[in-house]
Amino acid sequence: MTEQRYLPDEDDVTEFEATVTEVGDDFLVLDGTYFYPEGGGQPADRGELSWGGGRAAVTKVRKNHGDVRHYVEDVDGDLPDPGDGVRGDIDADRREAHRRMHTAQHVVSRVVLDEYGAETAGNQIHADRSRIDFEPADFSEDDVDRIERLSNEAIERDFEVTKAERPREQAEERTEEGRALLDLIPDHVDPLRVVEIESFDYCPCGGTHVDSLGEVGRVEITNRKSKGEATERIEFVLGEA
Ligand SMILES: [Zn+2]
Repeated sequence: MTEQRYLPDEDDVTEFEATVTEVGDDFLVLDGTYFYPEGGGQPADRGELSWGGGRAAVTKVRKNHGDVRHYVEDVDGDLPDPGDGVRGDIDADRREAHRRMHTAQHVVSRVVLDEYGAETAGNQIHADRSRIDFEPADFSEDDVDRIERLSNEAIERDFEVTKAERPREQAEERTEEGRALLDLIPDHVDPLRVVEIESFDYCPCGGTHVDSLGEVGRVEITNRKSKGEATERIEFVLGEA
């Protein structure tokens, strides 16, 4: 069992120490980690693990039941043993890009739900570009301009972003219909980690996020395309914060 230490609100930490609990052929499991494992449309963090007598690049991070596996490449020296201490260094630029992108996705998803009643059916974040699929939706070019403008207006207001654990019952009550796929979260998960953007948005989510909207930068929608009868895909990039 790996403690996911960036939860609920330490998603700005990129350096840490931990203890090895399992050593696989090409992965290490730690008692706790700040590395984000791939999931929820957000890629894993990358970085490095080092220990007395060795180091390795972390190229992939995956959840495996309750464990987080840090897949390693370019290993110098022998892998550590269970019980050994390691130091983790997360690629901070990539982490920061994912935090900004993921929070931007929440802003755009909120604007589209409020203005067009469309749900976020899927999303994929990258460090340099992201996309969101909305259903049911059929946006015009004017709609896209409007979504971009309203998203940037919210970002300019620099709302505070709070990340906290909330009792599941409360989180389910407060999450607006269509804002999150709560049915996909197993029943036993309680409390839920919730990302709240002041009065603007409330959404259960395990991703890494900024602490205030001003850190996001300007949303620029670069493409819109139809992905089926009632599904629209919006792609966006971010300008500097
Ligand atoms: Zn999210």
